[in-house]
Amino acid sequence: MPFQGAQRAPRYGNAWDKLSERIRRERPVCEWEGCIQPSEIADHIVARVDGGPDSEENVRAVCRHHHAVITGAQLRQRQLRGG
Ligand SMILES: [Zn+2]
Repeated sequence: MPFQGAQRAPRYGNAWDKLSERIRRERPVCEWEGCIQPSEIADHIVARVDGGPDSEENVRAVCRHHHAVITGAQLRQRQLRGG
């Protein structure tokens, strides 16, 4: 049984797939200041749950490590706000 669906998050639609692909192609290096890792993930600057749009201006390309850092920080902020 091939794991065809495993590579992309099923909750994201096709438009997002295309945008994130383009972002990673146009910005091949992690956008975290000082980081030189290849970008692997298109990350929302303002998270979707906070109303951030799926637009180029609201997306940054980051490496796996910094995506985890960002996601962890956002989760903590949300918890602090009681959300
Ligand atoms: Zn990085």
